Amino acid sequence: MSKTGPARTIFDPEHDEFRAFVREFLEREVAPHHERWEEQGRVDKEFYAVAAEKGIVGFWVPQEFGGLGIEDFRYNVVIQEELGKMAFSAPSIRLYNDIIAPYLLNLTNDEQKQRWLPGQAKGTFTFSLGLSEPGAGSDLAGARTSAVRDGDGWIVNGSKIFITNGLNSDATIVFCKTNPDAGHRGFSLLVVEDGMEGFKRGRKLKKIGMAGQDTAELFFEDVRVPEANLLGEEGQGFYYLMMNLGVERLAIALAALSQARQVFDDTLDYVKTREAFKQPIGTFQANKHVMATFSTELDIAQVYVDSLITKVLDGTLSDIEASKAKWWVTELGKRVIDGCLQLHGGYGYMLEYPVAKAYIDYRYMTIGGGSTEIMKEMIGNDLGLAWRNRG
Ligand SMILES: Cc1cc2nc3c(=O)[nH]c(=O)nc-3n(C[C@H](O)[C@H](O)[C@H](O)COP(=O)(O)OP(=O)(O)OC[C@H]3O[C@@H](n4cnc5c(N)ncnc54)[C@H](O)[C@@H]3O)c2cc1C
Repeated sequence: MSKTGPARTIFDPEHDEFRAFVREFLEREVAPHHERWEEQGRVDKEFYAVAAEKGIVGFWVPQEFGGLGIEDFRYNVVIQEELGKMAFSAPSIRLYNDIIAPYLLNLTNDEQKQRWLPGQAKGTFTFSLGLSEPGAGSDLAGARTSAVRDGDGWIVNGSKIFITNGLNSDATIVFCKTNPDAGHRGFSLLVVEDGMEGFKRGRKLKKIGMAGQDTAELFFEDVRVPEANLLGEEGQGFYYLMMNLGVERLAIALAALSQARQVFDDTLDYVKTREAFKQPIGTFQANKHVMATFSTELDIAQVYVDSLITKVLDGTLSDIEASKAKWWVTELGKRVIDGCLQLHGGYGYMLEYPVAKAYIDYRYMTIGGGSTEIMKEMIGNDLGLAWRNRG
């Protein structure tokens, strides 16, 4: 648990025990390697097998396919919160447990489950999710990667960009246009696997933060994908994305909140001890009020986020609620981390201080998984303010 913040009632004792276990795992299996992973620009692929063995990834795989069969989102929450607190941005655990899992659990047929789930349970076969393209990120309906029917399969052409785990993954779920005349019903999800002819990975993209997480471009040149690699039904790809986005957005919000809370806690210690003009800098009224404001906002955010976590548990989370949490909490975290960096003065600009590292690693939060502006678009449309409603 954090040093500050409201009492949290959503967890049971087993989640608290799991939290201590996760922390110990991260200290043992991530801390010693994180700097090296950042230097090499990717996590050692073998890490996922180690994490799976300890039930940190893939625990959601049903027991018949070698997993633990645990579908309690609070375990996902605990992992995201501990990663956020320890500022470990390299391993793509959110992608593994929160983003890819629903696709593999809900859209696969029996044969696909047999093929892909055991590797997920063991951490030996990992996925990435290829939605964004050079010309289409927020506006996914503008995606141009095409899949054209060819006998009992598809021929895929196009490219994807900014793909997390793009280099390390063994397969990518690719959002493709399968019928150019069918609007939103013209997209499907195809699994493109490592080694398929015509599938190439581009350069590792150089980012301002999250240096250890590989983010890549993917290219498809006449890649033949068998029918057996179609996820769910043809023409439903766009709707499958929408189905899964709520939990993904909440997962980003809660990870962002935990990281911002940790930076706040560290800064609270700092402003109590760092002195200027013979008094602790936190006791100047201007700074005291900054910390008081952040403390209030973080607490209120936590209560909202926890209420949405319980909605995931009872299956009632709406996309709009998740969008509200995503934009508001990630923007709050951006302000908190920026304000905390300011309170560290020159030290806040030095990368050896966690606040400086958090500042650059965190910046992604208001962009990825749907930007702040797109979240507000969705919320506004839900209020009946879509332009099409006026025509
Ligand atoms: C580190 C990182 C990892 C990522 N991982 C993945 C991944 O694994 N898989 C994947 O598919 N994608 C991934 N992405 C891509 C990410 O989802 C997109 O960058 C994001 O959705 C924004 O799309 P875009 O970059 O094309 O920006 P654009 O869509 O070009 O938007 C540019 C700006 O315009 C604003 N804008 C767009 N439309 C509107 C509107 N209607 N009203 C107001 N403002 C608007 C946006 O909010 C943004 O500020 C990743 C990105 C990053 C940075």
